[in-house]
Amino acid sequence: MRPASITYAKILVMTDSTICYENIRHRIALAAITAGRAAQDVRLLAVSKRQSVTAIQKIATLGQREFGENYLQEAQTKIADLASLNLTWHYIGRLQSNKTRLVSSLFDWVHSVDRIKIAERLDQQRPEQSAPLNICVEVNISGEPRKGGIAVDEVPGFIESLAAFDRLRVRGLMALPAPNADLASQRAAFRLMFETLRKLNQPSITDLSMGTSDDFEAAIAEGATIVRVGTALFGQRV
Ligand SMILES: *Cc1c(COP(=O)(O)O)cnc(C)c1O
Repeated sequence: MRPASITYAKILVMTDSTICYENIRHRIALAAITAGRAAQDVRLLAVSKRQSVTAIQKIATLGQREFGENYLQEAQTKIADLASLNLTWHYIGRLQSNKTRLVSSLFDWVHSVDRIKIAERLDQQRPEQSAPLNICVEVNISGEPRKGGIAVDEVPGFIESLAAFDRLRVRGLMALPAPNADLASQRAAFRLMFETLRKLNQPSITDLSMGTSDDFEAAIAEGATIVRVGTALFGQRV
């Protein structure tokens, strides 16, 4: 009887991550449709920081291709372990000058660019055989002290300076607003991001990376094209 019960336990675990994944996908589609948008216009970035390689594999088996990581050493191991799956990796953590070389060679996207010096290094250090690095400019949308991101009124000038870097491809703007339980306040911060992108008026810069487990539906209502969901998908981080 023992082998049978072990198998049963494994099936339960698999079912659990399937339910979480399908549930999030449905909530994203519903939020998009409610906002009069197409479900496929919103991409799910699975934030896998401090989640196991096994957990990532499970979600990848269900069809998820894009994963986000914050901690470089941890990400380096996972990217190597999962190389055969050909996943797309997004760096969403803080960036320091001494980490740009590794970030620029390991990742396909970087969401947290907020200094020209860092952009310059990512550009110079992008390996020749790789496609240009996709980047989002991080905006400190709630004006929080000690938080990453540039101010809203710095965005146009910053984007203009990035044009000099031909190994970077500017895709859009990213934000992590101050946590707020109130839906109207959540939406106000995301709406400001949408307006900031719209005012740039650059046809090639179209992405809005915004919304986490707590507020991705509000972000989608205001135009998010990439939502970054961690705990609602994987459960609590270890
Ligand atoms: C951790 C993290 C997320 C995901 O947060 P959850 O609450 O787990 O969904 C999204 N964006 C950034 C920048 C993060 O660091």
